Amino acid sequence: MRIGFVGLGNMGAPMAANLAAAGHQLHGFDVSGNAPDGVTLMGDAASAAEAAEVVITMLPDGAVLRAVAAEILPAMTDGSILIDCSTVDVESARAVAADAEARSIAMLDAPVSGGTSGAAAGTLTFMIGGPKAALKHAASLFDVMGARAIHCGAAGAGQAAKICNNMILGTTMAVTCEGFALADALGLDRQALFDVVSTSSGQSWSTSVYCPAPGIGPNSPADNGYRPGFATELMLKDMRLSQDAASTSGAATPIAALAAERYAEFLDDGGEGKDFSAFLPWLAQRS
Ligand code: NAD
Repeated sequence: MRIGFVGLGNMGAPMAANLAAAGHQLHGFDVSGNAPDGVTLMGDAASAAEAAEVVITMLPDGAVLRAVAAEILPAMTDGSILIDCSTVDVESARAVAADAEARSIAMLDAPVSGGTSGAAAGTLTFMIGGPKAALKHAASLFDVMGARAIHCGAAGAGQAAKICNNMILGTTMAVTCEGFALADALGLDRQALFDVVSTSSGQSWSTSVYCPAPGIGPNSPADNGYRPGFATELMLKDMRLSQDAASTSGAATPIAALAAERYAEFLDDGGEGKDFSAFLPWLAQRS
């Protein structure tokens, strides 16, 4: 397939490289001027999108997505497919999908979970909103880039699922860190807490797979000096997206709102460039 790929950063570059390695013809664009091996670098986004059967975007946020969509939609072929894999607000995803539909282009919002290691290994999970027929047409591309592609509903449903998932993740990690900080203050051994929680009702991915305490449980960013992993900046972005979505939709999410405020405080107080699980040493130091 001829594929246009716009946004060749930490996630986009390995995803595009995997598609090229699978034999697809890749034309890419990134404002940085960088492209991975196998991707032909074009001078602008519209040239990358021209004549492509599928165009994939992997961009920082909704404002950039809207700007890039305004450039590429007029250049895209009727009947082609736009797949946005960025994490953006639901409104931007729906607005771009409506603009695409007006141009006879099907759009899928397809944000991912799995991070840069999942992008490199081709094991991402895609959460997908938009027409099922477009998903069927592009299924082989999702197979190359990921391990799972879950259809969540109409336009915007993929972003909605991603935002809800990451709100649960961020809030669960914050309270998991509070559990370890409380254990410290009570003189309870962290290993003992892990052994109990990872086999009891307080269990979650944040403890069992991504334990924020170094030297305990499976290997995680805590064992690597809290290098990301998933940077605190990105977690705060997703927590804020969830809170914006909660206020526009009228959902009550008071606990996640508090967690979002604490991540913002942590980011200002040394959290920049660190994995979001470094919330634990930050809390422990404040205890
Ligand atoms: P990144 O900053 O490394 O990549 C974004 C790329 O977009 C950059 O290379 C930037 O130069 C490019 N870009 C910006 N404006 C552009 C424009 N107008 N035209 C063309 N290119 C432009 O970010 P990333 O880590 O690759 O993340 C991309 C998206 O994936 C984000 O929405 C992020 O929230 C989401 N995401 C990231 C991770 C992760 O672990 N990094 C995990 C899941 C989801």
